[in-house]
Amino acid sequence: MLDAPAKAFFHSLAQISFLQRMASRYGMAPGSGFARRFIAGESVEEAVVAVQDLAGRGLLLTLDYLGESVATSAEADAATRDYLRILDVIVQSGVERNVSLKLTQLGLDVDRATCVDNLRRILDPATEHGFFVRIDMENSPYTDVTLQIFETLWGQGHRNIGVVLQSYLMRTPGDVARMNALGARIRLVKGAYKEPKAVAYQDKADVDAAFVELMQLLLDQGVYPAIATHDPEMIEATKRYATQKGYAQDRFEFQMLYGIRRDLQTALIAEGYRMRLYVPFGKQWFPYFMRRLGERPANVAFVLKGLFREK
Ligand SMILES: Cc1cc2nc3c(=O)[nH]c(=O)nc-3n(C[C@H](O)[C@H](O)[C@H](O)COP(=O)(O)OP(=O)(O)OC[C@H]3O[C@@H](n4cnc5c(N)ncnc54)[C@H](O)[C@@H]3O)c2cc1C
Repeated sequence: MLDAPAKAFFHSLAQISFLQRMASRYGMAPGSGFARRFIAGESVEEAVVAVQDLAGRGLLLTLDYLGESVATSAEADAATRDYLRILDVIVQSGVERNVSLKLTQLGLDVDRATCVDNLRRILDPATEHGFFVRIDMENSPYTDVTLQIFETLWGQGHRNIGVVLQSYLMRTPGDVARMNALGARIRLVKGAYKEPKAVAYQDKADVDAAFVELMQLLLDQGVYPAIATHDPEMIEATKRYATQKGYAQDRFEFQMLYGIRRDLQTALIAEGYRMRLYVPFGKQWFPYFMRRLGERPANVAFVLKGLFREK
């Protein structure tokens, strides 16, 4: 995790359209594209091929069709229709039926009703075909509304859905208790956005300490939580706590992002833990990609090396 100013720097870069155009041109070039390490392809068909290979290595998977912050109901409708086609392709391909999505991709910025309608359009066939649908958590202006929409759908009987909570937000212990009371499945992450001091811890030590406390709460009282981190200390703390409490390895799962700490992914599987990979794909990969760069300076060097190789 980078410090807040560095994170802010990458979030500002993500807004620059010239960089977006350059990245779109080179980033996903067949074979050599520098973003390919983190993005499984621009189409669902490409992603499915990547995922089949990963499943063969014992990884569980969730596919994420990249896109966020759509501004019109026509764009939200298009994203929803894309998702419906993606569900079909996943069913036909036989890969694991598990997707992650963002509410701003479905029109949350347009209006809440549009977003909920679109989410239901996805959940109906998803439920019919036995999918699990994880609602990602975006930045803090969306925390309340995301949890409210989640609770509404839960109240209507949807049980194949889960949500994400972020340890950097000071409010999260309350949200964990609220979601544990429902019996909902939570993915715990540190949090990827640039957040103000008033709502979020800024120092890694504080975010990590909160992560450990929340992980313990989820393991004790939650329903099949996902501990989503690449941080060896967080992973060790989870393993230690589960062992100390005598919790079975299938009481929870670890999750990581496609292309990050592949060594650790393999090691955890070899130790008998469940390990799910979050596999993003789609043409709108730039903001996601910039968040990954903002997390680790070494990734910038990796990308620059790729760029120079291309010339
Ligand atoms: C499955 C999954 C789903 C997620 N969903 C969400 C979500 O819905 N909302 C949200 O806000 N955030 C989400 N995140 C991102 C998360 O919030 C963090 O930003 C991200 O996981 C980095 O934090 P970390 O726990 O790995 O620890 P950090 O403290 O950031 O990093 C610890 C160590 O992990 C490794 N590492 C971390 N990031 C990288 C990277 N980009 N490249 C290479 N190595 C790295 C390095 O070794 C680093 O030293 C998700 C993360 C995962 C794994």
